[in-house]
Amino acid sequence: MSRVYNFSAGPAVLPEEVLKEAASEMLDYQGTGMSVMEMSHRSKAYQTIIDEAEKDLRDLMNIPDNYKVLFLQGGASQQFAMIPMNLFKNKVGDYIITGQWAKKAWQEAKLYGKANAIASSADKTFSYIPDCSDLPIDEDADYVYICQNNTIYGTVYHELPNTKGKTLVADVSSCFLSEPIDVTKYGVIYGGVQKNVGPAGVVIVIIREDLITEDVLPGTPTMLRYKTHADAGSLYNTPPCYGIYICGKVFKWLKARGGLEAMKEYNEKKAKILYDFLDSSKLFKGTVEKKDRSLMNVPFVTGDEELDALFVKEAKAAGFENLKGHRTVGGMRASIYNAMPIEGVEKLVAFMKDFEEKHTK
Ligand SMILES: *Cc1c(COP(=O)(O)O)cnc(C)c1O
Repeated sequence: MSRVYNFSAGPAVLPEEVLKEAASEMLDYQGTGMSVMEMSHRSKAYQTIIDEAEKDLRDLMNIPDNYKVLFLQGGASQQFAMIPMNLFKNKVGDYIITGQWAKKAWQEAKLYGKANAIASSADKTFSYIPDCSDLPIDEDADYVYICQNNTIYGTVYHELPNTKGKTLVADVSSCFLSEPIDVTKYGVIYGGVQKNVGPAGVVIVIIREDLITEDVLPGTPTMLRYKTHADAGSLYNTPPCYGIYICGKVFKWLKARGGLEAMKEYNEKKAKILYDFLDSSKLFKGTVEKKDRSLMNVPFVTGDEELDALFVKEAKAAGFENLKGHRTVGGMRASIYNAMPIEGVEKLVAFMKDFEEKHTK
């Protein structure tokens, strides 16, 4: 067996310890004589799995009691619709457009009411986070929406927008559990787990209780109402059982590593190695404004498309996978989520140095 350094933006690298533990429990989960995949979601064993997952997530993120944790399906993209369907009362949402995912959410919300783009960084290919200190927030806005870490462009909000008292809704798919956040500053926090937490198929929604109501847009399907899932402890219907089980293992792995403060420190250390190199390199350079750099997704270019392609090819041959940038951006992108070991980044930088020496004569 040999594992590569997987820099994929998602689905992405998971902790090796978690994969090994899951493998060891594949045929017989803790004496039940079956795999978690084969187990009733109404069984006692499964109830314990989902309860522990929720408890560990609450511990890690310090989630207050007046927030519900929901394990749902449909990916992050389904939330683009569920958010307006459930939160629109005045049918107005204010969106900050910092990349493709924010844009998609904004476009989806337009299907249900008035969705305003109150700020955007489209003018410079989403290479920065706009000033959000004094935005033209709609008086009737039901919420202000952000994509907190922009997976494709590699920017992150280091400071949350001033929502002028309106509810903040955030897509945290690609920065989930990468550092501590203050949950009380948000009305809804959600993320597809396949970037930093677990296998695709699970989306986690952390939502303040007062936002969960029966007063949803007419025609909202039962399955797309937060209340349906909140009332049933995420077991209204069959949940993505196996995926939740793996997420639970990742939560335990994070706790064992010291929680989110420790994770943040590790992630900062990792990202610094790569950013410091990019800032000193004669060949490679980062594509986003330094103040808005993501700890998770690091896009970079050589400035020459052919050389970029050659780099991706040679890197792959050397065991560094999935470094090709998003199809809309080009160049390269290294996603260095929680489970990417620091050695992976050190070795990548060493490889980049070698490549630079060969190609800057
Ligand atoms: C990947 C991603 C999405 C889309 O996730 P799906 O689960 O494929 O719908 C949405 N938002 C962000 C920030 C992402 O990184």
